[in-house]
Amino acid sequence: MARNLACWHQPTGWTVRVLVSEVVDGSLAVDDPVGALRQRREALRPGPWTWLRQVHGDRVVLIDGPGDGVGSEADASVTVRSDTVLSIQVADCAPIALAAPGGLAVVHGGWRGLRAGVLERASECLAEAAPGPQVAVVGPCIRACCYEFGSADLDALCTQFGEGVRALTSGGRPAFDVPAAVRIVLERCGISSMEFDGACTGCDERYWSHRVDGSDRRQALVAWMEAP
Ligand SMILES: [Zn+2]
Repeated sequence: MARNLACWHQPTGWTVRVLVSEVVDGSLAVDDPVGALRQRREALRPGPWTWLRQVHGDRVVLIDGPGDGVGSEADASVTVRSDTVLSIQVADCAPIALAAPGGLAVVHGGWRGLRAGVLERASECLAEAAPGPQVAVVGPCIRACCYEFGSADLDALCTQFGEGVRALTSGGRPAFDVPAAVRIVLERCGISSMEFDGACTGCDERYWSHRVDGSDRRQALVAWMEAP
């Protein structure tokens, strides 16, 4: 069942809640039949969800209220409005939530998006909308054990993020360490308070994996702020 990834009590008196769905909650892929998808969303968090047409780019959209910006072509969203439900759909890429006093961001963090700078853009947009220290939580994503990578792509990623993202699969093949890259970017953004879910979507059966079985189905990270 869907799990609480984070519950942050903010100095503003607001509470930030972050959930991640699992296979048993059904696919939250945005192109699933609309009727069934609405029911699955309602079961997790009632009310309109702002979902994005994710394209592995660096665009961030500012969301001005519940249901605003639905279907925007972007890989991150930011809001300063309470009860405005933001969501990201993934099946290996890292779903990330950032919060600052009075503000919230969600980010689709795959290797292409990270390379494009989507996480930095989201942190910057959040800082403009809601100044103050940021905290982060990173949901289940593919980990090095299951994420074999070609040498040329891996070398390019190491040039950008440092050798800390070079790892090995459980079979001893070259691998990209997504959580390590996310940690490096968050630190570069000045964020020191971060939590990582330990699950690997590749080898944990609670989650879908595009890399391991070509799945078109997706889990969702869902986040919103509640005013007292
Ligand atoms: Zn794994």
